[in-house]
Amino acid sequence: MPYRYPVSQPCLEGRELEYVTETVGGGWISSQGPRVREFERAFAEYNGVAHGVACSSGTAALTLALRALGVGPGDEVIVPEFTMIACAWAVTYTGATPVFVDCGDDLDIDVSRIEEKITPRTKVIMPVHIYGRRCAMPAIMDIAFNYNLRVVEDSAEAHGVRPVGDIACFSLFANKIITAGEGGICLTDDPRLAAQMAHLRGMAFSSEHNFLHKKLAYNFRMTAMQAAVALAQVERLDDILAARREIERRYDLGLKDIPGITLMPPRDVLWMYDVRAERRGELCAFLAAEGIETRVFFKPMSRQPGYYDPGWPSLKANRFSEDGLYLPTYTSLTAADQEYVTGRIRAFYDLPQ
Ligand SMILES: *Cc1c(COP(=O)(O)O)cnc(C)c1O
Repeated sequence: MPYRYPVSQPCLEGRELEYVTETVGGGWISSQGPRVREFERAFAEYNGVAHGVACSSGTAALTLALRALGVGPGDEVIVPEFTMIACAWAVTYTGATPVFVDCGDDLDIDVSRIEEKITPRTKVIMPVHIYGRRCAMPAIMDIAFNYNLRVVEDSAEAHGVRPVGDIACFSLFANKIITAGEGGICLTDDPRLAAQMAHLRGMAFSSEHNFLHKKLAYNFRMTAMQAAVALAQVERLDDILAARREIERRYDLGLKDIPGITLMPPRDVLWMYDVRAERRGELCAFLAAEGIETRVFFKPMSRQPGYYDPGWPSLKANRFSEDGLYLPTYTSLTAADQEYVTGRIRAFYDLPQ
């Protein structure tokens, strides 16, 4: 059943169609040709970073970043418990092992618990800016400096948060702040890392002989049509972020005095508006019947079959995963839409409208 208020939908109100039409008309529809490079340059420039390497997904971006940094079998990567499975999988794809760190009260990795998980095998810390809340990057960069580790930021949910790690990885899936339908991009100031990621993305063809491949690589290329959509989205990113700040402010106001709802700390950019809720399962079912889609929080990595750890019930991440959810959050959501959503939540908790 399609929801009147889906949890997310893309906002394609700029020059997306114009650029796609132009791209198809021009004949360069693969990753070759100018579009992908235009998008890479535009997004890197927006972020004040020297190089962008566009690819097929956020998961691919994380994988390329780790491989470019030389992560492989025998290595360990520090990954948050409270995140999407792509973070752990990217590590596993390289042959390395993810080592999980619990979250703090803002859902981001608890920086005070990172050092106890560092071993001689640790190569990389992967902070994730959950739901658009920037991690404590200065403290993370200090730890990385002290232990000689590299930092791969997962910025899949945080377009608009300035990268500071060695590589920042973004997703362009349709539910993210900006989208290409599917896609991803890595940003870095290091030209060697950028070249390495581009090489691994495109099957590692070599200069000596086109069909000599010295490394196990990938086809993680982005098409020109995806880049055309992404470029039009970058042009509007400031407007999109401003619209989302308003959405955050309106939800804060509409929900702040509902006893069953606990608000979460403010976000640096709004990806999804998250709350904790009493009787979460009943609330989600009630809202679904009213045409409002919601999504529950991540399940901690240590609860996943592939990474099971019997200690998961003691995690803070686990407590959040039991009562957290997010509400419809998309750029075109209006004040009236939000009033309806918050009104139905009030009704569920038997409060006056
Ligand atoms: C969406 C997301 C990803 C994966 O991105 P895809 O483009 O779907 O591969 C990775 N990490 C986080 C935190 C995400 O939200």
